[in-house]
Amino acid sequence: MFGNRTLNRHAALMNRMAETLGIDLEEALRRGKISSAEWRDALVDCVGCDDPASCVHWLAEHGAPEDRLKQPAEEHAPDFCNNRLMMDRLHNALAAAGDGTQPGAAASTRE
Ligand code: SF4
Repeated sequence: MFGNRTLNRHAALMNRMAETLGIDLEEALRRGKISSAEWRDALVDCVGCDDPASCVHWLAEHGAPEDRLKQPAEEHAPDFCNNRLMMDRLHNALAAAGDGTQPGAAASTRE
């Protein structure tokens, strides 16, 4: 089993990844766009990530959450992210519903 420190670290990385994509995970949970079980599964997948160091680097290169209103959100998580498909699904679901994504998310471009 994973220790609390590992779980907390990956929960923070997962939340930050979502923020960088313009996704509000708490709002998604509240609106039923993702279930608690799906969130836990995503966290387990995140803990199993092969490259969390590259994740930290990628996140640092793609803007702090406080800069979200100054620059468009990224559209996709990096290819090495175990939750890339889940993030894509959430991004699309929240954008289609017109909520839970931050301004600029739909207008983003990918490097
Ligand atoms: S890249 Fe890896 S560590 Fe970062 S959010 Fe995705 S699965 Fe988690």
